[in-house]
Amino acid sequence: MKLSWRIILLWALPILVIGFFLWQGTLSQTSVDLGQNTASTRMTYGRFLEYLDAHRITSVDLYEGGRTAIVEATDPELENRVERLRVDLPGNTPELISRFRAANINFDYHVPKSDGAIWGFLGNLVFPILLLTGLFFLFRRSNGVPGGPGQAMSFGKSKARFQMEAKTGVMFDDVAGIEEAKEELQEVVTFLKKPERFTAVGARIPKGVLLVGPPGTGKTLLAKAIAGEAGVPFFSISGSEFVEMFVGVGASRVRDLFKKAKENAPCIIFIDEIDAVGRQRGAGIGGGNDEREQTLNQLLTEMDGFEGNTGIIVIAATNRPDVLDSALLRPGRFDRQITVDTPDIKGRLSILEVHARNKKLAPEIQLEAIARRTPGFSGADLANLLNEAAILTARRRKDAITMLEIDDAVDRVVAGMEGTPLVDGKSKRLIAYHEIGHAMVGTLLKDHDPVQKVTLIPRGQAQGLTWFAPTEEQFLISRSQILARITGALGGRAAEDMIFGDAEVTTGAGNDLQQVTTMARQMVTRYGMSDLGLLSLEGQMGEVFLGRDLMTRSEYSNEIASRVDGQVREIVAHCYQSACTIIEQNREVIDRLVDLLIEKETIDGEEFRQIVSEYVTVPEKGVYASVL
Ligand code: ADP
Ligand code: MG
Ligand code: ZN
Repeated sequence: MKLSWRIILLWALPILVIGFFLWQGTLSQTSVDLGQNTASTRMTYGRFLEYLDAHRITSVDLYEGGRTAIVEATDPELENRVERLRVDLPGNTPELISRFRAANINFDYHVPKSDGAIWGFLGNLVFPILLLTGLFFLFRRSNGVPGGPGQAMSFGKSKARFQMEAKTGVMFDDVAGIEEAKEELQEVVTFLKKPERFTAVGARIPKGVLLVGPPGTGKTLLAKAIAGEAGVPFFSISGSEFVEMFVGVGASRVRDLFKKAKENAPCIIFIDEIDAVGRQRGAGIGGGNDEREQTLNQLLTEMDGFEGNTGIIVIAATNRPDVLDSALLRPGRFDRQITVDTPDIKGRLSILEVHARNKKLAPEIQLEAIARRTPGFSGADLANLLNEAAILTARRRKDAITMLEIDDAVDRVVAGMEGTPLVDGKSKRLIAYHEIGHAMVGTLLKDHDPVQKVTLIPRGQAQGLTWFAPTEEQFLISRSQILARITGALGGRAAEDMIFGDAEVTTGAGNDLQQVTTMARQMVTRYGMSDLGLLSLEGQMGEVFLGRDLMTRSEYSNEIASRVDGQVREIVAHCYQSACTIIEQNREVIDRLVDLLIEKETIDGEEFRQIVSEYVTVPEKGVYASVL
């Protein structure tokens, strides 16, 4: 958009040049044009003299200083029919005129129209005028005169690159489940509304608040709610928008943003994804990004540049506070850090209540049950969940959302779109054994979460799925729980192997094995749960491109590394053995469950356990213990 003016001008100039010459051409043609008196037939000069002698000419009109004449001649042989003819004369001939007079010929002399000359003159001027005007505009824009209609070269203007909302319309009521954060921010609202209360006692109003938390937990919403509660404008820009391909753009955008904000104080500046600009300086691989550093420096300067009491509060959000430059976190900048975490069950319930406000729910729906089913869901996930359920309800032409739609929506949000089930055949049978294998191992193992349902309806990448209901929110997981999870995840492959044989196992277990490996590796390298002892060999694995972690990885020797690998292999092999044993010893019930699954496509947890209990007594704690 910004470039377009210049492009138009660059194209317009050659077009004008060409147009000018074409126009000049037409002008010189019109000057030859003989007005209305065009005559198509020509007559030679000699013939004309003969006609003159024969008194056949009745009238003569002279043009172009007497060099062209349109004459009317009569033809006595054709009952004096009048002909109009055009004659080229050899120049201005006074004696010809005296002959016309003598012969009493009606003649007239037409002076060339002065219009033509004026047009020609203007035509010569038009081109330079256009050229100069074009250049004038070009330079005017490149100087960035404010208020110009377009801005060819001032890319740095963040015009329309940050958004300003005069009223966000979001209130604290719309944000739920993150009560601590809300309480902290309540104070910010007071800063904006009644700054005197703080300045009177000499308190400096904080300039920056950093919201830290995983995506979708409501950071943006919270920032908007502050603006909404305080009734101040909300300026927002995303960190990634600062950094563009043009050098210096980011810094000038920061400057512009703060300038606009100062004009509108009190207000809130919200910088989303601040880690995109605020990352440790000089930490990038391959020399870092100068542009980003300049932007960050400008941001720091701007934040120092306004006094605490101008009524601007900068709120930034990130999910990677660990990579932020420490200069940003210094007092006087983002000195308040507020963690916005994924909600617990109570939080999820209140978020669901917020989003259920404008939805029609069947009376039997218990939001609490949904909250219990959705550990790990963020606020955005929950909002999305209810919306999906509403869409499904509309599609099924029901009046209100029922538990059925909620369940489907949860499945959809977690595992992706539903696909069409396979037709009966060998691969469907194999998948059924795979899933029943997971479910069976999960059911019979101590310390494993109970099966919620098994299904052969494909979703996302998976051809079949076994769902386990997490019992409670767990912050700490025991060693035997991890082992149970590993064994359960191996149950699918174990079933394929035991029933179809080594040669027939499929790629279906790929995803399971990935999880298994991660879990086993973490047992060894992070949680001190192996023979290797109480070592923490790997920090939280950050993305390598973030630079800082790169050098600190693998601080251990090659020997330790190969021992880690050995331990990981041992754990997995052991768990696989237990999974195989469980499958082998319960073959009969597995076969029956597989038939049932192929017939019904979905078995829910209650029914599954009921059938299993006909064959094995499953005590509360499970049959098999996962010990290593
Ligand atoms: P973030 O900025 O943390 O990535 P957003 O604030 O953009 O997340 O959240 C996206 C949407 O999810 C919000 O518009 C809102 O509908 C919903 N949401 C997220 N967290 C909450 C919450 N705590 N309470 C209510 N709704 C929430
Ligand atoms: Mg956001
Ligand atoms: Zn599997």
